[in-house]
Amino acid sequence: MRNGQVKQLELLPRQDMVLVEFKDGTNTRVNVFPNDQEVLRVAEASQVPLDVRHSEGNGAMSGLLVNGMLAVLVLGLLVLLFRRSANVAQKALGFGRSKARVQPEGSVPVRFDDVAGIDEAKTELQEVVTFLKEPERFTALGAKIPRGVLLVGPPGTGKTLLARAIAGEADVPFFSISASEFVELFVGVGASRVRDLFRQAKAKSPCIIFIDEIDAVGRQRGAGIGGGNDEREQTLNQLLTEMDGFEENSGVILLAATNRADVLDSALLRPGRFDRQIMVELPDRRGREAILGVHARTRPLSDEVSLSMWARRTPGFSGAELANLINEAAILTARRQKAFIDESALHDALERVTMGLGANPLQDSAKKRLIAYHEVGHALLTTLLPAADELDKVTILPRAGGVGGFARTTPDEEILDSGLISKAYLQSRLVVAMGGRAAEMVVFGPAEVTQGASSDLQLVTQIAREMVTRYGFSVLGPVAYERDGGEVFLGRDWMRPETEYSGRTGKAIDHEVQLLARQALEQAEQMLSSRRKLLDELVVCLIEQETISGEDFRERVKRHEATHPQLMPSRG
Ligand code: ADP
Ligand code: MG
Ligand code: ZN
Repeated sequence: MRNGQVKQLELLPRQDMVLVEFKDGTNTRVNVFPNDQEVLRVAEASQVPLDVRHSEGNGAMSGLLVNGMLAVLVLGLLVLLFRRSANVAQKALGFGRSKARVQPEGSVPVRFDDVAGIDEAKTELQEVVTFLKEPERFTALGAKIPRGVLLVGPPGTGKTLLARAIAGEADVPFFSISASEFVELFVGVGASRVRDLFRQAKAKSPCIIFIDEIDAVGRQRGAGIGGGNDEREQTLNQLLTEMDGFEENSGVILLAATNRADVLDSALLRPGRFDRQIMVELPDRRGREAILGVHARTRPLSDEVSLSMWARRTPGFSGAELANLINEAAILTARRQKAFIDESALHDALERVTMGLGANPLQDSAKKRLIAYHEVGHALLTTLLPAADELDKVTILPRAGGVGGFARTTPDEEILDSGLISKAYLQSRLVVAMGGRAAEMVVFGPAEVTQGASSDLQLVTQIAREMVTRYGFSVLGPVAYERDGGEVFLGRDWMRPETEYSGRTGKAIDHEVQLLARQALEQAEQMLSSRRKLLDELVVCLIEQETISGEDFRERVKRHEATHPQLMPSRG
């Protein structure tokens, strides 16, 4: 109620409207439903006088009735005009109360069975369910329960669905809110909504709070010149405070979803907050088949339909897009008055669904092949080089917020623990980073290489520079030309410290960096071209499967290397 700034309310029943007069003399009109009780309640609660005015005589009304058509038109216009102000006023009235949707226990119908194709994420979340159901099993052992789990992945991959499935499986109440609903209108509202939400949730523990699109409040603070957004920061601070204020094992688990974790404020990701991140990625071919299966459960498919064929035809589709495909097909089938969804309905549905998506880069097989070679290049080198990181998986499905595929590695535990990085490790990283460009060179020739490697090249340059200027890993000798500044690999380079060398040394450094980069590219090209057949095989396999796990990949490489022992990598 805008902090008691409202002087009085006047109900105009004829027009289904409330005239709101503010103390500063301004006023606004708000549409209400006929016989709406809400106005009375609000007025009473905030002790604002409410008048009812029967204005406008019958003359005007009958006039309008005579011009029936005109009346409809005018009313339509009025509704349009006032909808905005009505929304604003409604929000103002809802002040400070959390807008979370609450689903009490037993009322969330979603189960893990309804979520398909993202098995890794499901397995990880199984533990959260166990905790909510049988907290004693953990607390008896003195184990600390995660407070915050962050689901990260592209839109439509099933993050919201997964959160609901957890609540459904664990049979606990589910509080859900989109972070964008925290931030509205007046400074301080968001923060009080957060407080309110946590207060409600604690009363219902064990339960789940789900904050969708958390990047709306959780973006890096103070980024950019000209200061941040006060309201957003206050809301974020409140959220952090609430998370810290949780007693340990209070039974409230906070889930949040975002398309990108990289823009989130680092304070959110600290231990005790969202310290657990779960990647929810686009489904691969088998995953898509399973998702299609889930959505076909409740819809009659004709016998001729092969879901595995349809999974093949829909590379790059998210779960939501697959659900949409089946739904469109069902609608078309109903319209054609048929009993079963057949191939032709699915074909027409696919056309409709993809029209809105624009060209799907993965449909284009030439591009797909190039991406596959690029990523297999990275993956193969990291597998071959003894000092390099271990391959986690390689995929040609686009990453959240990016294009093309990726080859992901798990960083070496030993290095993480000790913080000691060897020269051999950094050299391997250079070679692996060059793997994408090298594969393009080897397969498509120097004229066909793409700019797809540009971020690889940035990484190479950064590592090579650090090797030369800070670690003394080059012929320029054991001299630190630059002081430590910020984290090594996290790219806070804009705070680059002052340099401590002459212009001539600067040139020598540049030269040395170039040399390291060129050598790495050469080694990468040599290693790949001497295994051309393996490279081709892996690419065929990747295009077919879209994703290869690290294990599977290593197995294939091992089999090949065993039959070609003369090609074992040169150590060092
Ligand atoms: P996100 O929150 O990641 O954007 P949603 O959970 O809102 O995606 O997904 C929207 C809809 O798409 C879901 O309600 C469901 O019908 C369908 N869907 C998405 N992912 C999956 C999946 N992995 N398995 C089954 N259905 C899915
Ligand atoms: Mg969602
Ligand atoms: Zn690359």
